[in-house]
Amino acid sequence: MKKSIHTPSAALAEHRLSGSVFHHSELTPDHLTDHFHRKLTYLRLSVTDFCNFRCNYCLPNGYQGKRPDNELTLDEISTLFTGFAALGTTKVRLTGGEPSVRRDLPNIIALTKSTAGIQTACISSNGYKLGKHLSAWRSAGLDKLNISIDSFDPAIFHQITGHDSLPQLLHDIDKLLDSTDISLKLNGILMADTAYDNLMAALDFIKDRPVAYRFIEFMQTSDNSQLFFAQHASSQHIKSYLQEHGWTATARPTDGGPAIEYSHPDYLGKIGLIEPYAPRFCDNCNRLRVSSLGKVHLCLFDHQNYDIRTYLSAGDTDGLIGALQGLMPIKPEHHHLHSADSGIMRNLSMVGG
Ligand code: SAM
Ligand code: SF4
Repeated sequence: MKKSIHTPSAALAEHRLSGSVFHHSELTPDHLTDHFHRKLTYLRLSVTDFCNFRCNYCLPNGYQGKRPDNELTLDEISTLFTGFAALGTTKVRLTGGEPSVRRDLPNIIALTKSTAGIQTACISSNGYKLGKHLSAWRSAGLDKLNISIDSFDPAIFHQITGHDSLPQLLHDIDKLLDSTDISLKLNGILMADTAYDNLMAALDFIKDRPVAYRFIEFMQTSDNSQLFFAQHASSQHIKSYLQEHGWTATARPTDGGPAIEYSHPDYLGKIGLIEPYAPRFCDNCNRLRVSSLGKVHLCLFDHQNYDIRTYLSAGDTDGLIGALQGLMPIKPEHHHLHSADSGIMRNLSMVGG
């Protein structure tokens, strides 16, 4: 592998030079464990950075430039999954950009499911043409699906995403709930102007549907500063509303994400909050991210990424395992969003939220 500062081994060398002592015994041979004793069992793979939506908080002007023609191939992804699974990865999420624009997405889902050790295959999607994709995703073995719904009002949905597709999406979601056992969660960005209406509509929606609707606190990146200052809102108001109306926080599953979910005896569904600005949010981080061009992001908001593509192209699982283990001591403890520092992440479509 070419030695640039963005390769895992060069990063380690830099780590040693910077005075930090790295003990080999810190590595468990079969698991990815970082310097803060966090077990990283969850891989989020961006299968493309291309997106067909232009959400105002993410890609307000739509995807810029030409979609790369060298996204990771199925063979490369197979090596990736094998290497991660050998190191204890049990859950894989396929994200983007918009993963459904990849025609071979069902093959990637199937690859996930056929890799020994990986138990759960998930997708994050904007749900465009969900009805068309559903049966192929289901046949490929998809376990869990997260769909973004930033408003239940068709006009506001259109305004935020650039697509007038909410009615079709809601129809497709009911089809999924009626005809599959795919576990579904809905995500909505938490913005000051839409929070209250979204909460009311979400409560209505989940009353008789076994679905969690999770508000994600708006994260600032270099592409969205103006909107962030206008619309960022704390989730405290939602939390207070839920607590005052008989909702209680439920325990998080061990392999679950960072959402706190609330339940209520009169509702089939749940309301969740993902609060990246909350104190100690990163304490239980269990994830690593890989971009569609084969770069490891140790933290979503890190200042650099690490190229592992050479190992993937060569089908070199052992080399990949060594590289991943070598990166563990330098996974950042937490992000620096509080200082408006989102590292190299200009927007979340680059590697998925
Ligand atoms: N295109 C897919 C989708 O929209 O679900 C997958 C990629 S998208 C980047 C993943 C998640 O990140 C979505 O739920 C989206 O709402 C969220 N997201 C994007 N930019 C965000 C930001 N600045 N702050 C908070 N969440 C964001
Ligand atoms: Fe695309 Fe998802 Fe970003 Fe919206 S949030 S622009 S759907 S990547």
